[in-house]
Amino acid sequence: MSLYRLIYSSYAKSDMGYHDLKDIMEKSENNNRSEGVTGLLCYGDSIFLQILEGDSCGALRYRTVISKTYHRIALDTRHHTPELIEFIPIESRLFGVWSMKAVNISDLNSQQVRNLILKYSASTTLQPHTMTSQQCLNLMQALAILFEKAI
Ligand code: FAD
Repeated sequence: MSLYRLIYSSYAKSDMGYHDLKDIMEKSENNNRSEGVTGLLCYGDSIFLQILEGDSCGALRYRTVISKTYHRIALDTRHHTPELIEFIPIESRLFGVWSMKAVNISDLNSQQVRNLILKYSASTTLQPHTMTSQQCLNLMQALAILFEKAI
């Protein structure tokens, strides 16, 4: 069975607020659950970094589900200039329990977050365009663990 993982980053619109994030989360959880998509959305420093993992969806093939979701997201005016970082077949899901969770890094321990970002990049601010796909993946997994401990 083929599963796929897609990672992208984008820039949030300048007046991105709590209600926008809440709305994105609610839509994402509902849509992704019905389409078998799992993953994690990270928001911080006016940047989005998102991982989408694809599962089956009726007659649609796995890759098609993830591709369609990404293209729908890319058209959303709440962010801009999306950059595709990775789109590959995978053996298993890493975020299988979440139809989509949003980690707002300002809700987490600031020092721990900055240390993690520095661990996987050359900076203490979130700059996925300077990171490899593996660095993005490692950072997202580490942020997910921090997030789980915080809730
Ligand atoms: P509707 O909610 O009816 O939306 C119809 C159209 O209006 C869409 O083009 C939508 O982009 C746009 N729209 C809706 N609300 C707003 C608003 N407040 N401001 C501007 N435009 C708006 N969706 C997912 O299904 N899964 C995801 O994982 C996911 N991740 C996202 C990550 C980011 C960073 C962003 C910005 C959006 C994400 N979305 C995600 C939302 C996605 O872009 C669409 O808004 C959503 O999938 C459309 O849901 P819908 O088909 O029910 O249409």
